[in-house]
Amino acid sequence: MLVVMQAHATPEQVRDVCKKIETLGYRPHAIPGAQRTAIGITGNRGEVEPGSLEEMPGVQEVIRVSKPYKLVSRDVKEENSVITFPGSEATIGGRALAVIAGPCAIESREQAFAIAERVHRAGAGFFRGGAYKPRTSPYSFQGLGEEGLRILAEIRDQFGLRIVTEAIDNESLDLVEEYADVIQIGARNMQNFSLLKRAGRSSKPVFLKRGMAATLEEFLMAAEYVMSEGNYNVILCERGVRTFADHTRNTLDLSLVPAVQRLSHLPIVVDPSHGTGKRNKVTPLSRAAIAVGADGLMVEVHNNPDAALSDGMQSIFPDQFDELMAQIRPIAEVVDRYVAGPRNKSAATDVQPAATRP
Ligand code: PEP
Ligand code: MN
Repeated sequence: MLVVMQAHATPEQVRDVCKKIETLGYRPHAIPGAQRTAIGITGNRGEVEPGSLEEMPGVQEVIRVSKPYKLVSRDVKEENSVITFPGSEATIGGRALAVIAGPCAIESREQAFAIAERVHRAGAGFFRGGAYKPRTSPYSFQGLGEEGLRILAEIRDQFGLRIVTEAIDNESLDLVEEYADVIQIGARNMQNFSLLKRAGRSSKPVFLKRGMAATLEEFLMAAEYVMSEGNYNVILCERGVRTFADHTRNTLDLSLVPAVQRLSHLPIVVDPSHGTGKRNKVTPLSRAAIAVGADGLMVEVHNNPDAALSDGMQSIFPDQFDELMAQIRPIAEVVDRYVAGPRNKSAATDVQPAATRP
C-alpha cells in the first residue's frame, strides 16, 4: 500500500499520516519526490485497510502496489534517485556518470596509493578496493581487513576520492561503515538477508551487486530488503551472470539496465571487469554500458596486474584506464550525461582538507 500525498501537503500532514500508519502497527517510509511525497507502508502481512488514511488531510490517494517490491519501485518515486555525499560534489545517479575505479583488493599502501593517484588523475570520483574478499578458495588472499580500510581512508584524505569497499558479513560491515563512503554487498551475498537488513540500518549508501544467477525480480527484492530497514540510498550493479558462455568469466547482461530503469528509481552501475573477466573486453563493454544508459561504471585497475593477489586477468593498466575515460566521454554526451575531465598533477588543490570532511 502506498499513500500519495497532495503536492502542497505540509510536513506536519506527512508526519501525521506516518504516525497513523505506526498506530496501525505498520512501518511508514516517507519518500519525497519532485512533485509530491509518497509514503510506502511495510510490515503488513495482508492488505492494509485504506479507509482511515484516505480521509486524512493532505492525502491525495491510497493505492495498492501490485508488485512484490514497493520502495524500489517507480510507483513510490517517479524520478531517478540521486545519491549525494556530504562534503563532496560526487553523486551517483545524476547527470555526471559515477566512475568507481581501483584494484580488486587492497594489497599494500604502496599499491593502493599508486593506483589511486592514477585513477584520480584520470577523472574517477570513487575509489574501490576490497579489504575483505569473498574468495572461492579459503587458501586465496582474504584481504588486509581493518588495515586495508585504514589505507582506504588515507586515500580519501589524500585525493578526495569517495571510498567503495565490500562488507562480507555483519562484523566487517561494522568496520566498513566506519571507514568507507559506500558499503558494497557482493554478488555472493545478494541474498544474505541478515546482511542486507544490517546494511539497511546503516547511514551509508549501499552498492548492491547482482547475484550470479539472480533474476531482475530477485535483485530488486534484495534492494527492497535494504530499503525496508530505512536506508533508501541503494545503488544497483550489474556484474554479469553465469551462462554456458566460456569466452568470458560471466555474461554481462546489459539489457538489465533499461529493464531496471523502467521499474525502479534506483541508480544502476555496470561492472565490466567481473562481467567479462578479461582485460581486453573491459573497455568495449564500458563503452556499451554508457551507451545503454548506465549511471556509471565500476572498473578494476591495477598497476601490476600480473602480480595482483586477486582478479589480475580482468584488471586494466592505468594507461588503459586513461584511454577508457577518453573513449566514454563522447558517448556520455550522446546520452546527455558527462564524465569528469582528467585532473592534472597539481589537482591535489581540488582535494578538500581532511578536517572539513565527515
Ligand atoms: C569485487 O567487486 O571485487 C567482487 C568480489 O565482485 P562480485 O561480488 O561482483 O563478484
Ligand atoms: Mn574483483
